[in-house]
Amino acid sequence: ISFGGKTEEADGEYFRLGTIVRLRLFGKDKKFLEGELERADAEIARLEALFSANAADSEVRRAGGEWVRVSPETYELLRRALEIAEETNGAFDPAIGRITGLWKIGTEEARVPGAEEIRAALPRCGYRNISLKEEDGARFIKLSKGARIDLGAIAKGRAADILAKKLCEDGVKSALIDLGGNLALVGAKPDGKAWRLGIQDPGKARGEYFGVVETSDGSVVTSGPYERFFEKEGVRYHHIFDPETGYPAKSEFSSVTVADRDSTKADALCTAFFVMGHARAEKYLEKHKEIAAIFLLDGENRILITDAARGLFTPTDKSFSLE
Ligand code: FAD
Ligand code: MG
Ligand code: MG
Repeated sequence: ISFGGKTEEADGEYFRLGTIVRLRLFGKDKKFLEGELERADAEIARLEALFSANAADSEVRRAGGEWVRVSPETYELLRRALEIAEETNGAFDPAIGRITGLWKIGTEEARVPGAEEIRAALPRCGYRNISLKEEDGARFIKLSKGARIDLGAIAKGRAADILAKKLCEDGVKSALIDLGGNLALVGAKPDGKAWRLGIQDPGKARGEYFGVVETSDGSVVTSGPYERFFEKEGVRYHHIFDPETGYPAKSEFSSVTVADRDSTKADALCTAFFVMGHARAEKYLEKHKEIAAIFLLDGENRILITDAARGLFTPTDKSFSLE
């Protein structure tokens, strides 16, 4: 694309979705872009009020043992979440809320729950505890007793998809949406070239990358244990849980990145791959050759990438080997 004449830029930074949201919009008309920023921020706030597992009055948290009517946005996100949960054999679990609610990792109240508490919470987890129905054009959700939804591993991706679509429909031709590291793009860069997105090196300071993904449109999402964790008696506990054990997932990976047009899918899948670990992720990917994924093996400086990622990813740190 070419804007002809001078390219204007409008940048916004907000604290939303429990993280830092950065928006960069490009175009010809600065006033229009600034208006778009404001509308985008209002849209994120609206989605947060629907999807949040943390806010007690969110739509997701109001779900319970009876059928509760929900918005089309929440219904659609849960529908996608259940689909991906099934496809990943529950490694991605939108009903992990009872476990995340025990650990509270990422909050001031983070703690190590007792084994008995975890044992009691586990049967309340699992995506089959969430039911959906549509009736006369209205949408409803219901949970089994004691179950709790947590969409923390997919909702930022969904929000990014909704924002990208909205910006596009409004006539924004080039934009970078960064929802706490969940990146989504509208169009190419204003100079017409592909975006170059650095992938954080988990062993280094924020902003230091081990490689770059080059893409226009679409989305790049990374999951890892290095952003949200707490330490107790020398043990580090991170925020991505194995739904089978209720403890932080033991994974060979220190970082998992998925690049996909669909940010909802990219977000959920990179969390799922982290939980699955190497063997299970490999098996899944044998059946899904279209997925562009980049894995960093913990403590080994080895990068594994899928064939679909080969054209997109370039390592930038020479001390890493690519396989
Ligand atoms: P991802 O790997 O994408 O997701 C990990 C998160 O998903 C975990 O933090 C947990 O919440 C959940 N999860 C853990 N294991 C699994 C699993 N096996 N399957 C599925 N999900 C799993 N944080 C705050 O501190 N305060 C807030 O008020 C707050 N509000 C939020 C509102 C919304 C709408 C969203 C989307 C997030 C919010 N967050 C908030 C952040 C949230 O709690 C997560 O920490 C964050 O979404 C993690 O994203 P990630 O990209 O780091 O990791
Ligand atoms: Mg995720
Ligand atoms: Mg994420």
